[in-house]
Amino acid sequence: MAVLIFFAIHWYVSLFFQSFFMHRYAAHGHFSMSRFWEKFFYIGSFITQGSSYISPHTYGLMHRLHHAHTDLPEDPHSPHNTPNMFLMMWVTRNNYFNLWIGKTSAEEKYHKDLPQWEAFDRFAHNWIARVIWGLAYFAFYWYFATAWWQWLFLPMTLAMGSLHGVAVNWWAHKFGYENYKMANTSKNILPVDLLFVGEAYHNNHHKYPGRPNNAVKWFEFDLTYFISRGLDKIGVIKLKEQRNHGIF
Ligand SMILES: [Zn+2]
Ligand SMILES: [Zn+2]
Repeated sequence: MAVLIFFAIHWYVSLFFQSFFMHRYAAHGHFSMSRFWEKFFYIGSFITQGSSYISPHTYGLMHRLHHAHTDLPEDPHSPHNTPNMFLMMWVTRNNYFNLWIGKTSAEEKYHKDLPQWEAFDRFAHNWIARVIWGLAYFAFYWYFATAWWQWLFLPMTLAMGSLHGVAVNWWAHKFGYENYKMANTSKNILPVDLLFVGEAYHNNHHKYPGRPNNAVKWFEFDLTYFISRGLDKIGVIKLKEQRNHGIF
């Protein structure tokens, strides 16, 4: 039971940091925050993603390229460029890594206002940190697992960040409903998004990438936007105006 509770909490908290900080703040600049809070969420991304941590800076850069080249050969992770989900994960990993080490460069406009904390990334992105996280997860499962099948969750725990990436980016460009006819394949995965903290409304998001609220229909609910409004009220962030234009 402890393993399942841990997995569920890890799923949502890790996804929230990816959605709130990496996607909406780093890539799209839906809100602003002080240097203190930026560092706080940087560190929070590392703690919640653990062994699968990726740099919010490089994530933001890669995600902007996804919006600019959706479904085209230059798209860093379109399911329409690869025959299956696993190959897409591999290609995405390589595209991310090439941006991370600077082997691939992106035009200057894609770098604008991306958060950056190189010293921290050097530490958090290191394979030693990943191994330590892996051992910590293993120890947790070793201590708390009460049935063999609970160990099946360990690979997903180890790859949590990538799992979220592939779940949204594969599924949301393959299956779901459309509120808007687009020149790309983006879909809304679930009408009531209980799994992806508001990231399921991917068709809405591609239509209005600059809009902090991904929900548009009465039944759609964007949890991350709801929390963002709370953080705006208490002064942690400052939400920008709803913008219905712009690539990012
Ligand atoms: Zn997309
Ligand atoms: Zn986006």
